[in-house]
Amino acid sequence: MKRERKDYYEILGVPRNATQEEIRRAYKRLVKEWHPDRHPENRKEAEQRFKEIQEAYEVLIDPQKRAMYDRFGYVGEQPIRHEAETGGGFFEDVFREFENIFNRDIFDVFFGEESRQRERREYARKGEDIHYTVEVSLSDLINGVEIPIEYERYETCPRCGGTGVEPNSGYIDCPRCGGTGRIREERRSFFGYFVSERTCDECGGTGKVPRDLCHECRGSGRVLRKVRRTVKIPPNVEDGARLRIPGGGNAGYYGGPYGDLVITVRVRPDSRFRKSGKDLVYDITIDYLQAILGTTIEVPLPEGRTTMLKIPPGTQPETVFRLKGKGLPSEYGRRGDLLVNVHVEIPKSLSREERKILEDLAKKRGIPVA
Ligand SMILES: [Zn+2]
Ligand SMILES: [Zn+2]
Repeated sequence: MKRERKDYYEILGVPRNATQEEIRRAYKRLVKEWHPDRHPENRKEAEQRFKEIQEAYEVLIDPQKRAMYDRFGYVGEQPIRHEAETGGGFFEDVFREFENIFNRDIFDVFFGEESRQRERREYARKGEDIHYTVEVSLSDLINGVEIPIEYERYETCPRCGGTGVEPNSGYIDCPRCGGTGRIREERRSFFGYFVSERTCDECGGTGKVPRDLCHECRGSGRVLRKVRRTVKIPPNVEDGARLRIPGGGNAGYYGGPYGDLVITVRVRPDSRFRKSGKDLVYDITIDYLQAILGTTIEVPLPEGRTTMLKIPPGTQPETVFRLKGKGLPSEYGRRGDLLVNVHVEIPKSLSREERKILEDLAKKRGIPVA
């Protein structure tokens, strides 16, 4: 591996004080000119030139590397790239990588503007979803309800229309990528250096950045705003259900769509009912005489109304009456049941008259009592 001193300025044919734009233009012209496919008669030489052009460009387009090169005549511990001293296979691999880069550059030369727009679209990102939890009553859950909510979200900046650019300020070449829209990175391997390329994250691959950032959103394209809206909870929504409101979230990036507003519906506990899965349990205590003789009781329903429930004569303590489909809503619109749990109260004390009646009754039935 011999150390080579190459004059990168000479290779690109630019003056020592060339601007980044001049370097970029020269590079694009030269890689096109020296692409080995265009030189089938002296391919080896073209490959060599092609590599040199690549190498020169990588150094000169990067202000730090360029400064180092100007000062020391080379960058890093070794020349940026050297001859691979192994067999052809490796070189073919490296060259294939060059070719990918080359094809993209050619694309950019001929279709620069379209390709930039295309990359900008690829950079566009949907805004974040916003999560919001609403608490509703049991009857709201079953009947549906409209709830006013208030939250903060990012909206598209009205001053710049989401571009982040101060209106009428114009664009300049991206300082990070030198206007190419791409960042080149060298990766060292045992054999030499690979060059990898990725979209510039500063300019999103456009190669341009605004001269002036929007004075309202400071370039983000989004502004924080308080939003008031009414959320419609449909009837028979399950506790814990999530409702997605498209476009209710944060504004997108670089022209991307708004995120969603995701509403989680939680039911407030209702002291009248106990939950048992999708069933609700309603506890009621009746008098022992009602249990013996039968009665009709009023049972509250979770949706807010009441219903009359017939307790037949001879109802045993802890009998459970099942009201079908009067429990909690569940998936697919089915509702659980309402279980009416009947407790029977035995009086702790009796009046003298009551006691007399019951003693007579016991005597008639031959039941020994105290
Ligand atoms: Zn703005
Ligand atoms: Zn850039």
